[in-house]
Amino acid sequence: MAKLKLALYWAASCGGCDVAVLDVNEKILDIANIADIVFWPIAMDFKYHDVEAMKDDSIDVCLFNGAVRNSEQEKIANLLRKKSKVMVAFGSCACFGGIPALGNFWDRTTIFERAYIEAPSNDNQARTFPQTEIKLDGVELELPQFYDTVSTLAQVVPVEYFVPGCPPPVDLILKVVDALATSQLPPIGSVIASEKSLCDECDRVKEDKKITKIYRPHEIIPDPKRCLLEQGIICLGPATRGGCGARCIKVNMPCRGCFGPPAGVVDQGAKMLSALASIYDVDDEREIARMVEEVVDPAGTFYRFGMSSSLLKRRRMQT
Ligand code: SF4
Ligand code: SF4
Repeated sequence: MAKLKLALYWAASCGGCDVAVLDVNEKILDIANIADIVFWPIAMDFKYHDVEAMKDDSIDVCLFNGAVRNSEQEKIANLLRKKSKVMVAFGSCACFGGIPALGNFWDRTTIFERAYIEAPSNDNQARTFPQTEIKLDGVELELPQFYDTVSTLAQVVPVEYFVPGCPPPVDLILKVVDALATSQLPPIGSVIASEKSLCDECDRVKEDKKITKIYRPHEIIPDPKRCLLEQGIICLGPATRGGCGARCIKVNMPCRGCFGPPAGVVDQGAKMLSALASIYDVDDEREIARMVEEVVDPAGTFYRFGMSSSLLKRRRMQT
């Protein structure tokens, strides 16, 4: 059987998804048995013009990690889409926007102001910002255009499959490899994870307890057997797709939502807000206000990984 042609790309992300592919350890040999890697900028010296020279649809599968936040990433997403039969949004940033999409609470102007002027380590009295085109010593240089809004991969090009996780766990990666090797891919549009919520695969004791106080994870040492949410720690399990093996819960840390919303849920943040409100055991208005205040950084808590794919998508900035 001819080997599959596989491409991997890293857009707006931290690089952890690429490292996760290497985390399969000796199983990388299984991948090498079934696939030839034809493009993987982090690991091999391919150039964009190598991809441009390929025939359309000549790449069998592209694992695209990272969100789309600038013009270079958008260009390469379109190029790889044209050259690939199957496009996989690989990891939470490609699937939902991920951590880079927290930038959607701001815009390019405010982000640049913070990064290049206000940050304490800056000394930029000339107020120099990155330019998309500049001529230096007679040489023309270009930088990608930084967009106001971070997008998911599927908001830019059609995507066949979604593999969530920050990063995707090794067993999910191997599931994808197995499906490719045996040509047993699920229906187009599938999310390769559980259809149920994380709470469904979490074996902590749930007692339907209500709460009167919110704690941040460093403020208490939670009982390792009882539901974290019922101990007052915001755990996004009710609003998050299962499939990770509850890996954070197993080390006594709450779920932060990296697998995105479960099947049938459109907005992960709204779902979690509703789950949290339903277990508040306070009636008095002042007490309710206190508990609301106890949620530090609500936007970052409820939309940590899913801002681009949420109903909000971005904050509306005042003009
Ligand atoms: S809220 Fe968190 S700790 Fe509680 S059952 Fe769900 S996943 Fe487990
Ligand atoms: S427990 Fe939640 S944050 Fe942790 S890996 Fe699983 S889905 Fe991601």
